[in-house]
Amino acid sequence: MEEHTGNLALAERPTDSAPPVYESTTPFRSLRVRAAAIYCSDGTVGDQIDEFLRHILDTPLCDRLAVPGGPASLSSSSELPEETRGVEEQLRFLVRVHHLRRVILIAHAPCAFYRQRLGVPDESQLPRQEEDLKEAARVVRSLASLLVDAYTARIVRARVRFHQVSV
Ligand SMILES: [Zn+2]
Repeated sequence: MEEHTGNLALAERPTDSAPPVYESTTPFRSLRVRAAAIYCSDGTVGDQIDEFLRHILDTPLCDRLAVPGGPASLSSSSELPEETRGVEEQLRFLVRVHHLRRVILIAHAPCAFYRQRLGVPDESQLPRQEEDLKEAARVVRSLASLLVDAYTARIVRARVRFHQVSV
């Protein structure tokens, strides 16, 4: 009897019955928009980038590659740290498994990756980022037939403004 009770107690606490610590109020949607956004992982511009993606895609359901420096990691610049070079491989994976048709590249200024890792002072970052976005777009197009859009996000008087860059 004691053993039976013990077995019941085990059955009542399978690992998947633990109460959740949180349930999102956003319903799950399996829709894929076959787009990916690549941008800097800097959390201070994360909400604004989410809002912008919703604005240009009508939905936030795109895949995301958020890494320090964002599209800078796709530049073939020899200054890039070795660990950033995996982004191209990760994008290649998403292109294959999610059948991507579109990639959105977003650089932001000022960006600590440009300042600290590439040695580009804040006031010189925008022209450098525009060049890097062109190079990143070239790399993305070399992976597959993809529509590429590029933008810079600039902080102006506590607001974030997005500007399209021709790539
Ligand atoms: Zn950044």
